[in-house]
Amino acid sequence: MNLVRHFNDFGWEDVDVLAYKEGGPYKGVTRQILFEGDEKLPCQWRYFEVEPGGHSTLERHEHLHNVLILRGRGQCLVDHKIHDIGEHDLIHVPSLSWHQFRAAPDAPLGFLCLVSDERDRPQLPTAEDLAELNRDEAVQAFIRA
Ligand code: MN
Repeated sequence: MNLVRHFNDFGWEDVDVLAYKEGGPYKGVTRQILFEGDEKLPCQWRYFEVEPGGHSTLERHEHLHNVLILRGRGQCLVDHKIHDIGEHDLIHVPSLSWHQFRAAPDAPLGFLCLVSDERDRPQLPTAEDLAELNRDEAVQAFIRA
């Protein structure tokens, strides 16, 4: 494998641009797997890109995410708060916190995301979860489910 993968317009040598995930309510998101880990570093390093106006799936899971915004700007929901995010901001998504990323209407949102190889399947919100999230007006205005 290439130990150095040169950058070209938010793609990298020998890295395929993949569908974000199977199914789920998301809009305009691609996924690139930059490096796989191994038993000494059991994690996957990915780059996601959300097109202007697009969004990732509203989900939660036991595993964590550590995120670095690499391109553009937008907002994210992390644990019941909406945050403005832009290039070089860092985001930690704790275990079982609801999260969703949205690109600005006029800019993409590209981010690196580190995730453990050992991870549980994302949970989508139930009607009950949505009712609880929607109690906060800012969250209600933000989420797409
Ligand atoms: Mn997630």
